[in-house]
Amino acid sequence: MVKVGVFGASGRVGKLLLEDLKQTPDMSVSTVYVRNSLDFSIDPSILVTSDMKAFLKGCDLVIDFSLPEACETLLEAAMKTPKPLVIGTTGLNTHQLNLLKDASEVMPVLYATNMSLGVALLNKLVYQASAALEGFDIEIVEMHHRHKKDAPSGTALTLSESAARGRGLDIEKVRVSGRDGNIGARTKDEISVMALRGGDIVGRHTVGFYNDGEFIELNHTATSRNTFSKGAIRAGAWLVGKEAGLYSIADCLEM
Ligand code: NAD
Repeated sequence: MVKVGVFGASGRVGKLLLEDLKQTPDMSVSTVYVRNSLDFSIDPSILVTSDMKAFLKGCDLVIDFSLPEACETLLEAAMKTPKPLVIGTTGLNTHQLNLLKDASEVMPVLYATNMSLGVALLNKLVYQASAALEGFDIEIVEMHHRHKKDAPSGTALTLSESAARGRGLDIEKVRVSGRDGNIGARTKDEISVMALRGGDIVGRHTVGFYNDGEFIELNHTATSRNTFSKGAIRAGAWLVGKEAGLYSIADCLEM
């Protein structure tokens, strides 16, 4: 039985993770990290704690869906008490991404801005399409619920990286995150990533390849957040027992 520590348990995805883990054979929640307290009841056998060390010591695997600053404290603490980490938090800054890489030198870390099978495949398709459709303009649009804090989504950024890799481009040099005013015509290599926010949209990503006379759009829509919690559980089951290293969802799905 793999004992799972849930980080971000009171969040939208975290709550589903707790529910989905109840239905998962060979895994059970052993610890939950909270800043203050939980506003819902939980099996009394689970350790609910704000002591990071006790949280980490009480589990064999951590699954995290929190916020970047919280994820940062988790990564720092895990350097002292290493555990396999599944990191789903998005919007990590350069410092936090470097911490994640440092952590992966001492423990297995699976980092995925999207835990869904469909988006893992979409990244592959985007890479292939980008390479094959030379000269097509690439534009990415993402839509999420009104509560989402980071923009553009981590998934959209990962998709833009896949598109840039397909063309041998450095995404940092070609990414455009908004257009406003008299900015001139679109340049050949730019890859734009636009974010829309509203309602309760779980997540929708469209990667378009536009040319004169034709265009193709690859679209993925998440209709339930369980896609992410179940994907993270599958990733965690795969990660336990692996050597230290930085893994992706594509590694886990052997894509
Ligand atoms: P949410 O705001 O509903 O939940 C955030 C959680 O983090 C809460 O439990 C909150 O208590 C906790 N938290 C915040 N600050 C904390 C701190 N300082 N210390 C400890 N805990 C803290 O968010 P959500 O919609 O559940 O999403 C969580 C994260 O997961 C976001 O970054 C989101 O973009 C990302 N996400 C990733 C995927 C994926 O597949 N990788 C899918 C959906 C969402």
